[in-house]
Amino acid sequence: MNTALLSSIVNSDALPSIPAVALKVIELCREDDIDIQDVADAISTDPALTLRMLKSANSSIFGMSKTVSSLPQAMVVLGIRTVKVMALGFALADTVKGGKKGRFDYPRYWRRSLTTAVAARLIAQEFGGVRKDEAFVGGLLSDIGMIAAERHNQAQYDKVIEQHLAGHGRIHEIEQEVLGITHADVSAMMLANWSMPEAMSHAIRAHHGNGLEDLDPRAKSLGTILNAASEIASLFSGDVDPSCSEEIFSSVAKMCGVSREFLDSVMEVLNDNVSEAAEMFSVDLGDEISFDQLRHSAMMQLTHLSMSAEQERVSAQSQIESWRHRAQTDKLTGVANRQAFDDHLANTVQDAIELRGELGLIMMDIDHFKKLNDTHGHQAGDEALRRVGSCVEKFAEESRFVARYGGEEFAIVVAEASARKLRELAEEVRDSISKIRFQHNGTPLQFTASLGAAHVSFSEETVNAEELIRRADECLYGAKQDGRNRVEITF
Ligand code: GH3
Ligand code: MG
Ligand code: MG
Repeated sequence: MNTALLSSIVNSDALPSIPAVALKVIELCREDDIDIQDVADAISTDPALTLRMLKSANSSIFGMSKTVSSLPQAMVVLGIRTVKVMALGFALADTVKGGKKGRFDYPRYWRRSLTTAVAARLIAQEFGGVRKDEAFVGGLLSDIGMIAAERHNQAQYDKVIEQHLAGHGRIHEIEQEVLGITHADVSAMMLANWSMPEAMSHAIRAHHGNGLEDLDPRAKSLGTILNAASEIASLFSGDVDPSCSEEIFSSVAKMCGVSREFLDSVMEVLNDNVSEAAEMFSVDLGDEISFDQLRHSAMMQLTHLSMSAEQERVSAQSQIESWRHRAQTDKLTGVANRQAFDDHLANTVQDAIELRGELGLIMMDIDHFKKLNDTHGHQAGDEALRRVGSCVEKFAEESRFVARYGGEEFAIVVAEASARKLRELAEEVRDSISKIRFQHNGTPLQFTASLGAAHVSFSEETVNAEELIRRADECLYGAKQDGRNRVEITF
């Protein structure tokens, strides 16, 4: 291999710059806590990019079968991952748009790259183990080395093109003869230099089949898809004679382990999808930024994009956990909300019935809370609720579940406790609340709460959650009647 040429191509500064807005989008998407509105705002500064994102959301390649007319809606439909891929793709498209004098055929280059990208994405759906957007990006970048080689030494690369057009062989074969390296080597080296994921760079090096067998499983899966997709693209971009179609189709089906029916279904939508992608990628040039910045952003993006399936599963899982947590938590006080209380009580009652165990429920209500609100303001009331929430939360443990029942009422579900323990706990809670002190606008505030508790031994009787709540509520009412700041219990 001509390693000297390879490194001089890869290190050349011949590649041009890309629009600022694309960089901004890639930058924003890099943050873990992506704000869709921020991304939409960045995109909306560029009418051309806005239009392309909307087209993407409405296209059959990335979008769904509904009409999308606003940017935030488009972000949601596309998914943030696809938005990143699109921004990166648009950036690359802008970078390598249009040719100068030489023999290099830019329209053909784009036809080849987009066909590879679209075909790779479609095949990835069936193949498994490789994400669709990773396949798309891999396809998009597979031939970037051609551009670099051409820009590095146009006269030399023109010879490659001439021999190819004269029918002396496939492009990568002639590159190997004339240059001692192929565009696959250059693309892979560029990706490696930008510290893009190793699997992607290895897969791209093998996208014409060389060294595919030696790759580790992850790179091999992607490499196989890229190999298949670029074979298909070589047909659709006129790099090989149409008479080779059958041979290529059957070798692709075999390579990927897919049926001919499936492959036919890919071919059927391929050209339309490529035309759509081409329309999306057609560009006006905006503000210019150096290629180094693209390298940096693209590198970070692709590192993110090719997170392992496991990491992805874990992060999806933690996202779900955080939504679940939010759905079950009271915003003001941070303790469990009514929904979580209802679920927990129903389960705990069910357990107590099955085990014929004991169960207690304490309901509490702040005394004269309306007056506190009226006298000191709603803010003071909110602060009082937060204080009560954290005070009561301190009593939570494995067998005790604390929740805000509603308004200024809190509840504790106490599993496996005797009536005596339940009363002691309620008294402790009452005492703690009465000791809360805080200042609001310089005024010291304190208050009390009344508590009602119900205890049931399921070995003696069976009651449901509603009945338990009713009994505790009745006691709470009794505690209020008896003068407040007290506990009443029934068992
Ligand atoms: P009692 O001792 O009989 O319980 O009297 P009370 O004033 O505490 O009871 P009442 O039910 O008349 O008033 C409850 C008040 O709680 C009325 C309502 O505005 C207030 N409240 C309910 N939720 C919130 C909240 O989230 N923040 C604030 N600041 N106040 C709330
Ligand atoms: Mg009340
Ligand atoms: Mg009250």
